Amino acid sequence: MQVVLASGNQGKLKELQRLFTPLGLDVITQQSLGIAGAEEPFATFVENALTKARHASKQSKLPAIADDSGLVVPSLGGAPGVHSARFAGDNATDADNNQKLITQLFDSNGQPIKATSAHFYCALVFVTAADDPAPVLATGRWFGEIQYQACGDNGFGYDPYFFVPELQLTSAQLPAADKNRLSHRGQASAKLLPQLSELFG
Ligand code: IMP
Repeated sequence: MQVVLASGNQGKLKELQRLFTPLGLDVITQQSLGIAGAEEPFATFVENALTKARHASKQSKLPAIADDSGLVVPSLGGAPGVHSARFAGDNATDADNNQKLITQLFDSNGQPIKATSAHFYCALVFVTAADDPAPVLATGRWFGEIQYQACGDNGFGYDPYFFVPELQLTSAQLPAADKNRLSHRGQASAKLLPQLSELFG
């Protein structure tokens, strides 16, 4: 089955293609079809993922999968949350977002000024068409801590600062296959895939 992946984020696309392609899904990106990203105006990941999936499916006339994800820091009232990609402004880079995060959690000596517990959250939505009345949804959470120093070169976004206590490593120090097994996105896809198999055999 051909499925359009509704994401403009290269880091996420790499992970999602690795997760879905072995399952016989012929995953194509919305960019390769010239489809622009949808607005993401909502306060929840699930609503934004649904909007992105509908938009991609409407434009491509194909089934679509969308991911909306981000970092949730309870001591910052849930920020950056659904604004993770643009925490430091509309055209913010990962470095800008990370710097803003670190200055909100640590003083200039690297001492925490707020609780550093955090989790990544991912909502995945699959629709057969833009007007699909029964979208398939799956979510995942990955718990860790924000650390002061960046560590590791893998992954993207907040990965170099996201410390995973069980492994004593940051998410950016994990090989792609390990991150996909453990991460919010990996957990959500592990829940989405059996539901798709149930529908499509
Ligand atoms: P979205 O494309 O609107 O869903 O925004 C996702 C943003 O959340 C990314 O730009 C990253 O800043 C952050 N994010 C989501 N998943 C991850 C991850 O696995 N590692 C690091 N940052 C992530």
